[in-house]
Amino acid sequence: MKCSNCGAENPDRQKFCGACGKEIIKKQDVIEQLQSPSQIQHFMQSHQFLQSEVINIHNTLRTIERTILILLFGGILGFLLIWFGILTLQ
Ligand SMILES: [Zn+2]
Repeated sequence: MKCSNCGAENPDRQKFCGACGKEIIKKQDVIEQLQSPSQIQHFMQSHQFLQSEVINIHNTLRTIERTILILLFGGILGFLLIWFGILTLQ
């Protein structure tokens, strides 16, 4: 088993490199992890969750933006109505 960090040869059962001390990662283990359906499913779910979170935040921001615009427009309209009311009363 070759060390992925320094390339030194190590016994197959050794978990850490005898030359540099870094953990030896077996390529086969990584491939098996990626190929297991639960791992892929978990990754997909977390990815979808993140996507939906981003969409949720975006929608919330749009709703707030719209609410502010409606309030602003309503305020201006109300102000104009009062102003015109004062003008017509005089
Ligand atoms: Zn090493």
